[in-house]
Amino acid sequence: MNPVSILGVTVLSGVMAMAVLGSLLRAAIPGVGCWVVANALSIVALICFASQGHVHALLSILAANVLLAATALTGLEGFRRFLGRTGLPVAGLVGLVAVGAGIAYWTWVTPNFNARVALVSAFHAGINATIAVIVLRKRPPERAKYSYCFVAVTASLFSAGHAVRGMTYGLGLLSQARLLESSAINIAFLALGILALPTLSIGMVMLAHDRMADRLRKLASIDDLTGAFARREFFARADALLRSAARTGTPVTFAAIDIDHFKSINDQYGHAAGDKVLMHFVSIVMEVVRTGDVFGRLGGEEFGVVCPATSAGEAVVLLNRLRDRLAASGYQSGSGAVLHYTFSVGVDQYRAGEPLSALMARADAALYLAKASGRNRVVEALQAGVG
Ligand code: GH3
Ligand code: MG
Ligand code: MG
Repeated sequence: MNPVSILGVTVLSGVMAMAVLGSLLRAAIPGVGCWVVANALSIVALICFASQGHVHALLSILAANVLLAATALTGLEGFRRFLGRTGLPVAGLVGLVAVGAGIAYWTWVTPNFNARVALVSAFHAGINATIAVIVLRKRPPERAKYSYCFVAVTASLFSAGHAVRGMTYGLGLLSQARLLESSAINIAFLALGILALPTLSIGMVMLAHDRMADRLRKLASIDDLTGAFARREFFARADALLRSAARTGTPVTFAAIDIDHFKSINDQYGHAAGDKVLMHFVSIVMEVVRTGDVFGRLGGEEFGVVCPATSAGEAVVLLNRLRDRLAASGYQSGSGAVLHYTFSVGVDQYRAGEPLSALMARADAALYLAKASGRNRVVEALQAGVG
């Protein structure tokens, strides 16, 4: 085990991390590009370090340290982008310039190996601590903690290791003339520094996979045109609400909603305008429904909403409020023209023990009556004598 062989192994793991992260580039996950670049930079940096004693210090000390600092900063930038942060990491860039200036000063003006190590260690400790903090702070609450904690714990450990290394050299507890000495403590510190990126790369891959799993889940559960729950997700959530209502004995109401004369909107304004109207409709519904109500697109211009702890009479009031809200706004097209449209609704209350399909059938029959009696209205099944 000597420093150069550790560098060699790390270069190889950097190449493998690039290959794995590169395969994820097509998924267009923010930050992955930065992580690939970070690994590429680290490979060049490590080759520069390994060439110490064979090439000019400009390359093997200054360029090597600046490139390794740029590696850490690019890795951090990847985490920032992955977590939705934008803007320049100003503090990091200032730190990078300081590393370059400090290394040059303590190499050629007042040669001081310990000061160089202390400076570089402080920079890497800061970057790793920042990674740990933002990954914990910005984790989407609905995502599993595992990959985020993996990154936070490894980044914290590396940060602590760098801090200890910086203090050890900064306070003069260790003195050494050059980087690649084969002492045990030096090898331990070196390994700590150069193994950070390969280890964090495992976390990066885990996070990217977690993001892809989240996308798949959303694709399956959210209607991509309107953002409402897709049919399958709607039925699953509606079923859960009915089961809970059956247990607690609270009322729950289902409403079948259908936009009126939607075909003529398509015919008159085009299919794309029809799509926009569907999106507009859903955005208005989202404003009116309450937390806990489950709203989904059942197909075409047909929607369903299940309102827990709500009687049929209360649901009629809610849906009439939605009708008023839509009548007051209308859809404003790109050209500025306002397109007014309406919808009809059939409503009924859940009867304990019945399947969702029975409730939906009565609401559909009420919806049919709403259409037959002139549209743009809410019909309650019981009052219309349905079922
Ligand atoms: P009614 O008042 O009786 O409900 O009449 P309608 O025209 O709304 O009903 P109909 O079921 O005859 O027509 C529904 C139309 O919705 C037909 C279909 O082309 C259109 N449609 C279904 N899905 C989409 C979609 O995703 N985008 C657009 N633009 N149109 C859609
Ligand atoms: Mg319709
Ligand atoms: Mg229809």
